[in-house]
Amino acid sequence: MNERLLKAVDDRVDDLVALTADLISFPTINPPGEAYRPCAEYVGARLKKRGFGIEFIRAEGTPGDTDRYPRVNVVARFDGRSAGACVHFNSHIDVVEAGDGWTVDPFAGIVRDGKVYGRGACDMKGGLAASIIAAEAFMEVFPDFPGAIEISGTVDEESGGFGGVAHLAKSGYFSAPKVDHVIIPEPLNKDRICLGHRGVWWAEIETKGEIAHGSMPFLGDNAVRHMGAVLQAFEDELFPALDRKMTRMPVVPEGAKRSTMNINSIHGGQTEDFRPGLPSPNVPDSCRLTIDRRFLLEEDLATVKSEVTDILERLKRERRKFDYEIRDLMEVLPLMTERDAPVVKAVAQGIMEIFDREPDYVISPGTYDQKHIARIGHIYDCIAYGPGILDLAHRPDEWVGISDMVESAKVMAIGLNVLLRGTVSG
Ligand SMILES: [Zn+2]
Repeated sequence: MNERLLKAVDDRVDDLVALTADLISFPTINPPGEAYRPCAEYVGARLKKRGFGIEFIRAEGTPGDTDRYPRVNVVARFDGRSAGACVHFNSHIDVVEAGDGWTVDPFAGIVRDGKVYGRGACDMKGGLAASIIAAEAFMEVFPDFPGAIEISGTVDEESGGFGGVAHLAKSGYFSAPKVDHVIIPEPLNKDRICLGHRGVWWAEIETKGEIAHGSMPFLGDNAVRHMGAVLQAFEDELFPALDRKMTRMPVVPEGAKRSTMNINSIHGGQTEDFRPGLPSPNVPDSCRLTIDRRFLLEEDLATVKSEVTDILERLKRERRKFDYEIRDLMEVLPLMTERDAPVVKAVAQGIMEIFDREPDYVISPGTYDQKHIARIGHIYDCIAYGPGILDLAHRPDEWVGISDMVESAKVMAIGLNVLLRGTVSG
């Protein structure tokens, strides 16, 4: 039976390429959130023609939502002939800015040498197109299928997903019994299944000082020097300790199997806006540092935080006049869907049929919209699976391979067959 399903995907290759190119032609750059509405409307119009019911959901009041840049999401649903499970494909339609270094127009959707080029080609308009083709092929071959298929195009993933999946999850779009299984076609490579991601803690640390004239710094208290002591303690104690923590999670790349922390920014004293003039001589009374700590399934958030605050508290005891504040900016718990979860087994079945080998199971070093689906929607049968090479995301001359899209559309179509019709093999 899968022969017919695979042929139905092959019959749609031209459509798949044209669809990908069309999606790329919407410059859905985030920030600020350009062209969300026309892109969502394009997806909606396409699926409406195939019989899907379409809803447009604007995430009013979420970060960045204005009449000029409305956060418009699209959710399409097709109910089969009888009751059953619902498989939801969720793709983000926003892309990051093109940046420099392109040799092709990033929003022209140029097709060359078996690849479609453009910003968002792999991350993740190629994945969205592949999931649409997979669903349409499946619906043609098995018109009497039970259950339902949903396809969503959501915004703002690149900026945290608050106007996209988080908003929809809060509004009940990602909850049982409406949705049972979720596949997010992020570019994790066509033969890999991404089970989840590491945890995230962002925080801002501020050291305090006392302003004084720069010619007499002894009269004040320099907040930047206090922050220097913080950084030194991080170098001496925290970074080596993080580097010793290894996870059993299959995180790729290898370096991300350890705990990591990035210093995102540091700022103390006057802004540099004085240019082209000169700054005035001041002892800075504040220095702010933002940290981006990525943690493992084996770690808990309270310990992750105390590793930092213990250092700050110790400095407070040992260092004269040291004072600080720390503010949480973001917290996301690590996630890992189990390998025997239904959606994992269904997509693994597809990969084995198409590539004749077991899939690689991976964990993403950074988070994506799965966090909202789990935390807000309480759906844990969720993976990321889609075509494209993650290393190309956000880079100049981003592309997605046409054969990769075709093969992963076949995997998705088989996954649908397993999840909705219970067909284990063809
Ligand atoms: Zn993405």
